[in-house]
Order: sequence, then structure tokens, then C-alpha cells
Amino acid sequence: MKISSKSIKLGEGDSSFTSEVKARSGQNPSRCMQCGKCTAGCPVGFSADLPVNAVLRLVQEGLRDEVLGSRFIWLCAQCRTCSVRCPQEIDVAALMGTLRTMAWKGGHVADKRVKVFLGAFVDSVRKHGRVHELGLMMEYALRTGRLFDELELAPKALGKLSLRPHASLGADEVCAIVERAMKKGEDR
Ligand code: SF4
Ligand code: SF4
Repeated sequence: MKISSKSIKLGEGDSSFTSEVKARSGQNPSRCMQCGKCTAGCPVGFSADLPVNAVLRLVQEGLRDEVLGSRFIWLCAQCRTCSVRCPQEIDVAALMGTLRTMAWKGGHVADKRVKVFLGAFVDSVRKHGRVHELGLMMEYALRTGRLFDELELAPKALGKLSLRPHASLGADEVCAIVERAMKKGEDR
């Protein structure tokens, strides 16, 4: 969803969305005072459609579609810089994780590539107990039809990435963890 200041209608949100985010994440977005410290430290902010503090503000306003349709929640690297910097002790990274789960389950993921990447990543870990990077890249490129987009990276990548997948030690245990995490995500 493309978000602009014109498309945001403050005061017309749904407070049940704010309550749902609070209950699922265990965080209280209403404590956010818009100081911007999270945004100032966010390493992916330069490529985002919204600054981090704006996501918090939209959650406070109950603007479900704007929040769950945002690209930013998928760009978040879960580095936790925001959580550490927040003077209101909001675990913003945990909140972002909750928003992703809600977007996924609610069918709000607008960018097909997000679904393709996540699906290919989980399939790879299920098969090998770890991700096979080259296989993941090929799968992603094939499923999205973007075979030639990153072609200039191929020579560098081929020198560093394994051509064949290697199962990790304890692959069965890793797969069991993935299954449990997927199940937990479905139940949340
Ligand atoms: S956890 Fe996400 S939102 Fe927070 S600083 Fe890191 S990338 Fe930005
Ligand atoms: S650092 Fe905390 S209080 Fe400040 S804008 Fe970010 S979430 Fe809100």
C-alpha cells in the first residue's frame, strides 16, 4: 500500500486494532511519545515507506490497513536498536514481529515477493536444517520471474556460496523447531 499524508485519516481508525496489537505483542504502543529515537537509529529506515515512529503512531490511531499494508514491517531486520533506544521501554522490534504475523495471517501482504521469499526460505530450512543460499536465490528468482535482476552479483556470489546444499548437524531438531514456530504463529 502506498501511504501518503493525504491518505492517512487520523481519528477514523479502529481502536480494536490497537488493542489487538497490544494483546498479541505484550507491548503498549500507546506509551509512544513520538520522540523519534527509534527512527534515528533504524538501519533500514532509508529504504522504508514509513519511519518507525510513524508505524507506532498509526497503530495508536487504529489504522489497520495502513499499518499491515506497509512495506516497512517486512524490511525490519529485527536488530532491536529501536527497542534498546526507546525511553518508554517499548520493545518495538517485538511489535514489528507481531505486525508481520498479523499481516501474514490477515492476507495484507501486498508484495508477492515477500510471500515467495518467506516460503522459499522456510522450505529450504525444512529440507536441510539450514538455509541453502544459492538454492534460495534460484527459487526466488524463478518464482518471481526476476532471473536477471541480480545478474551482476552472480560472479561474487558463486565464489562464496556453496553450489550444493549441506544438511546441518541436528537438522531434524532444527526442522522440529521450525514446525513448532510455524504452529505457534498459526495459533497466535
Ligand atoms: S528492529 Fe527493525 S525497526 Fe527496530 S531498528 Fe532494527 S530494523 Fe529498525
Ligand atoms: S523511541 Fe519509543 S517513544 Fe520514541 S518514537 Fe520510538 S517507540 Fe515512540
